[in-house]
Amino acid sequence: MIEGQTNVRSSRFGAGAIDGLGSELGRFLVTTMDLPWRLAQPRLGGQPAGVLFVENMKIETLDRQLAAAPECDTVLAIGGGQAIDLGKYIAWKRGLRLVSAPTILSVDAFVTPAAGVRHGHRVEYVGQTSPDPLVIDYDLIRTAPRELNIAGVGDLLSIHTACFDWELAAGASRSEFPFRPEDVSAARAILADTMAKADAIRSCSDDGLRAIVEGYMRVNTLCLPVGHYRVEEGSEHYLFYELEERLKRPFMHGWIVGLGVHLLSRLQENRHEEAVAFMDQVGLRYQPADLEIKRADLAGSLANLRQYVTGRPDLWHTVIHERTITPAWIDQALAGLKF
Ligand SMILES: [Zn+2]
Repeated sequence: MIEGQTNVRSSRFGAGAIDGLGSELGRFLVTTMDLPWRLAQPRLGGQPAGVLFVENMKIETLDRQLAAAPECDTVLAIGGGQAIDLGKYIAWKRGLRLVSAPTILSVDAFVTPAAGVRHGHRVEYVGQTSPDPLVIDYDLIRTAPRELNIAGVGDLLSIHTACFDWELAAGASRSEFPFRPEDVSAARAILADTMAKADAIRSCSDDGLRAIVEGYMRVNTLCLPVGHYRVEEGSEHYLFYELEERLKRPFMHGWIVGLGVHLLSRLQENRHEEAVAFMDQVGLRYQPADLEIKRADLAGSLANLRQYVTGRPDLWHTVIHERTITPAWIDQALAGLKF
């Protein structure tokens, strides 16, 4: 099915895949949140040794929860990104088997090795885990709001702008990593396969949900061996980082990445209409109105973007370094968006 090394040691896909899982795990600890736990518990079978609910992702909180967690053999993470990250953190720190059962596909935490934890006001990625198995229960995932599952395509759509950025950086001899055209081609094939499933993703059918999960897993086959996510992270994410620091609040990840793809594909002059048509077809929300971003804030963010990325040496060379964003460009770009 998927060629190459993914971060997923084994997987179980199917409607009802979580049913009875609890009776197979020995002594297990659950990490979750209220709503996903209420949905999953009656179907799980077996009695966990303990249940840890996400409080927040601060490192101090995680370490307190880690110290208080009961002895067990397996950590079963059930929920969205934070519940999965809490499970990853505990499994990593204690050297335990991890079983991940996402109940929503809005972020790719369930297939990535590291856990996102908060140190002060920056998120850092720590640890190394692989789900064994990854449990994709389509029925459970469909209990999440449709638009939030559809948000999962954001980090696949970002291949569109990120690969362009990497090519641009390589062409300017400014790539931070050895440029790998074969990885760019492979990433574009993942995006093409995702785009071909637009209607299935829009309806959140089994086929559509599987397309998102497999897309994430295939991206990992490219990114984990080289140790960076250049094929799926570029200028579209940098706009999001600027907005996050500017407005000091979180956003639905896939939606804000969608807004980034909208604006940065335009700056790149990179098949902008095609990218927007796909977002509309698949039902990905990306409008500033959906994200509650005011026009003045977005205009300010775009005007500051060059300065922002040059002030952060950890960010890669992208179109933002290459093309100047003028006030006239901002006016034109924002005219096509809803506030
Ligand atoms: Zn992302």
